[in-house]
This record gives sequence, C-alpha cells and structure tokens, in this order.
Amino acid sequence: MTRPIHAIIHADALCHNLAVARRHAPRSKMLAVIKANGYGHGMLRVARALQDADGFGVLSLAEAVALREAGFRQTVLVLEGLFDADELPLAARHGVSVVVHSEPQLRMLETARGLSPLDVFLKINTGMNRLGVAVKDFRKFYERLRACEAVGAITLMTHFATADEAPGIADQWAVFNQLTEGIAAPRTLANSAAILRHPETHADWARPGIMLYGASPFADEYAAQLDLQPAMTLRSEIIAVQTLQSGDAVGYGRRFVAEKTMRVGTVACGYADGYPRHAPTGTPIAVAGKMTRTLGRVSMDMLCADLSDIPEADIGSPVELWGGQVPVDAVAQASGTIGYELLCAVAARVPVCEHG
Ligand SMILES: *Cc1c(COP(=O)(O)O)cnc(C)c1O
Repeated sequence: MTRPIHAIIHADALCHNLAVARRHAPRSKMLAVIKANGYGHGMLRVARALQDADGFGVLSLAEAVALREAGFRQTVLVLEGLFDADELPLAARHGVSVVVHSEPQLRMLETARGLSPLDVFLKINTGMNRLGVAVKDFRKFYERLRACEAVGAITLMTHFATADEAPGIADQWAVFNQLTEGIAAPRTLANSAAILRHPETHADWARPGIMLYGASPFADEYAAQLDLQPAMTLRSEIIAVQTLQSGDAVGYGRRFVAEKTMRVGTVACGYADGYPRHAPTGTPIAVAGKMTRTLGRVSMDMLCADLSDIPEADIGSPVELWGGQVPVDAVAQASGTIGYELLCAVAARVPVCEHG
C-alpha cells in the first residue's frame, strides 16, 4: 500500500472549460496559459487535453521547446520573453513566439543576425506596472521592433490588474486603445476574468488560464456558476480515527477543543502535499461523500476532519480535499488565498493520475 493521497486530472473538464472560453469569445483565438506546470495539472498533460487550442502560453523557453518536441505545432508564447540573447537561436529554430517588454529584450533582437524571424508579442504597460513598455516609449519602441530583421509578426499585448474586481478594465482599455489606434497589428488583452466579464477586450487572442482548470478568477462567483468544471480532484483517505471527550484538543497548538464527545478522522494530507497550512478549523472537506469541516491546525503530512455526522466513516474512507464536491475556491477562501495558489502548489510528491 502506498500513502493514499493522489490528484486526479480530468481531461474532459479541461476540454469543456476551453469550450466555455470559446463560447464567451467566439471570434478570438485561444492562447491556453499552461505556465506553472499547467497550474499544477502537468504541462504536457494539459496541452494534450487542450490540443485544439490555437496556442499555448508558457514561462520558459525550455517549456516551449518541450511542447515542440512533444509535437505541438501551434503558437507557443514565452510570457516573460527571453532572459538572455543566447536563447534566441533556439527560440527561432523552434518557431517560438516571445514577449518583448523591455529595452534589453529589444536590443537582443536588434543585434541578432541570421535567424529565421521570431513572432513577437509587444507588451505594453497600460497601468498594471509590472511588465511592459511605458506608454511614452511605445511608438519609438514599436518602430524599432518593426525594423529588426529578427522580428516577424508583431502582436500588441497588455495585461489587466483588475479584470476580476472593481474598478474593472476601463482605464487600461482606454489607454491601450488610444495608444494603438491606427496600427494594423493583432491584439491580445484578456485573461480569464476579462474573457468572462469584459467582452470588448476579447480581441484577436484571448489568454485563458485559471478558467481552463475549472476554478474561478472572481472572489464573488464560484466556478460552477460560470459553468466551469474542476480539472483536478485532490483525494486521500482517513488513516486513523480518534474519539474525543469534551475538553480534548486536536493537533498542534490544541487549536480545536471538543465541546462534546465526537469522532475525528486523520487524513493523509498536509502542507507538504500543498494543502494550505493556514486553512482554519471549519475549512470544507468531504469524507465518504459527505461535506464536513477540518479541525485544528494542518500539519506537514496530516490534517483532521470532523466525523460527528458521518458515523459510517472509518479508516480507509475516501476524502476529497478539493474537486467536484469541494470547490478549490472554497478551500482557498477559507485559507485567505486564491484557487490559483492551491492548484499550483500541489507538491511533487503527490502522485497524479489522469481520467477521461
Ligand atoms: C497567467 C497569465 C494569464 C492567465 O491569467 P488567468 O487569470 O489565469 O486567466 C494571461 N496572460 C498573462 C500574460 C499571464 O501571465
């Protein structure tokens, strides 16, 4: 017997969620964002499930090359661009597209010779103030990029800071439009939140990330309300059962104290598996198919669940940490974080299997 924790990845849910993105943005090509190991689902596994995506967004050139070597022929975009001029020949050889957001990246392209031209996504800082060419520098930067022999097609790109909440995208949208007006180039702006709530921003390429995995980009709307299906189920089992008397405490710090006689199940899942240590007593969890709550502090390899109303639960009972019954967003919300972080943080020691 191995330790019972495992993650199940649902390929059919990934497909379904891509179809939801297409339904919202029917005229846009879909750049499926599969950075962070496909938000913890496995990059190549996700790419195979989403093989009819029009392109993929990744973080490193190594990931882009891995996609090419696995046979993917679509657009593959390196989202932070290249970090060193050394990488240019490999990127060019594999027909990888690169973000260009900085002067050093522009210089790399200006001095490159003898490469087959790279398609470039020129990232403009319209107000997020993280990556991107400043508004005042854009025109000059764009003209220099156009003059590079190493540059093929140019797509204009920006990223929203508040597509998921107030004040929305209006300011950045206005800056982008004013700046790029009259330029005949494709455009890409929308992340999942903008795909779902700001249709005016869909443009030539949409860039869905979190929605593909069946989690919500919004704090005020669950994935199920958006017709998204969870692509990951994190499962384990009860490995011990304790009976507490009134006054008995559970776990490190004695953070939960029983007020009555009750049964508590110990689950083989802890923060070293990627479960959030900050999940407090009351975080939703399902045991033997029934919703219940966690009790006390999460330990490195274990956490505890309330079995008071689940008398049939015993050693070996299945536990869902998150998935179709327990929304990852509900666990995240209870823990003061977002579904993105939990999905990405599933530890390498958790075995993954595929379904559908
Ligand atoms: C991660 C990322 C996305 C996807 O964002 P979601 O909120 O997960 O949809 C889109 N565009 C860029 C540039 C990104 O880095």
